[in-house]
Amino acid sequence: MVEKALLQKRPFIIAGPCSAETEEQVLATAQALKDTGQVDVLRAGIWKPRTRPGHFEGVGEVGLKWMQRVKNELGLLVAIEVANAKQVEAALKHDIDIVWIGARSSANPISVQEIADSLKGISIPVFIKNPVNPDLQLWIGAVERIEKAGIENIGLIHRGFSSYENMEFRNKPTWQLAIDMKSRFPNYPFLVDPSHICGKRELLKGVTQNAIDLDYDGVMIESHIHPDEAWSDAQQQITPHDFQELLNNIIWRKSEQEIGKVEEDLLRFRRVIEELDKEALSFLGQRMEIANAIGKLKKEKQLTILQTNRWQEVLDNLIVIGEGLGLSKAFIQQYFNAIHMESIRHQDKIMN
Ligand code: PEP
Ligand code: MN
Repeated sequence: MVEKALLQKRPFIIAGPCSAETEEQVLATAQALKDTGQVDVLRAGIWKPRTRPGHFEGVGEVGLKWMQRVKNELGLLVAIEVANAKQVEAALKHDIDIVWIGARSSANPISVQEIADSLKGISIPVFIKNPVNPDLQLWIGAVERIEKAGIENIGLIHRGFSSYENMEFRNKPTWQLAIDMKSRFPNYPFLVDPSHICGKRELLKGVTQNAIDLDYDGVMIESHIHPDEAWSDAQQQITPHDFQELLNNIIWRKSEQEIGKVEEDLLRFRRVIEELDKEALSFLGQRMEIANAIGKLKKEKQLTILQTNRWQEVLDNLIVIGEGLGLSKAFIQQYFNAIHMESIRHQDKIMN
């Protein structure tokens, strides 16, 4: 039984190979990771959901015996991915401590429901990765299905979202979506999986630090005794030694709950921010009143709402001014396009 207190530990660290490949590889990786003293749970994929056929698809049930050896001989907790009822049954039969639902499964409510049904009445922590597509409702739905099965210890893993054109990351982080999910379930441990976000080693540290700065509770990271020879996800796996170095170089920031009190200075800054936000709202309100007046005028003169050239000129000007104030072009565009859309909505209401 995994104690609830363990899941509340910060940082909570799950590490291990993408896939269990051989008994030696699993045991050697587990031993080296254990020696770092930084691992709470050893992970390994037993059945690998690969995007395309013709790749290594996991060793299957025999790998569960190796995980049992890790548990019994090294005293580490062990976690695997499950994608259907049969895999849940095999995991339970082999005393696996924690299971997680992978990104391809959490995108599929039928799979999640099958897993949920097979977990009814069982007390095992379940981590739920974000679905492959950036759909907050789908992720929430997966959590609700597992909650309804009576599972109390639930955790969330942010592994990024696939996209067609993205080049920098294997799976785009889309931090805002993850933060929305985190606020929706504040009591569930929220981990980052930098390995599947990055797809390559060089980016792991930056993404891990980003997540810790955003108050994430821990990390699930892929580590392999010989990463370059890994049978899956070789480019993103790191040796246990590099894993240790990576963790040592992270600045582990504390959350306010951990400190127990909020710094005075921080409180003062926050009050200023609140006042500024209220002022910004009041300006927006005034701006929309003007938009209403414009709407009336345009209606009288039978003009179109959108004057494309004029808006582009206005926006270009704002970008120059905003950049001078240290704001990014992308932000200024997003912010003012949203204001403009709201303005159009107001005018549209008056004209139609
Ligand atoms: C994995 O953890 O190895 C894996 C397959 O991850 P994901 O479900 O995030 O693609
Ligand atoms: Mn992997």
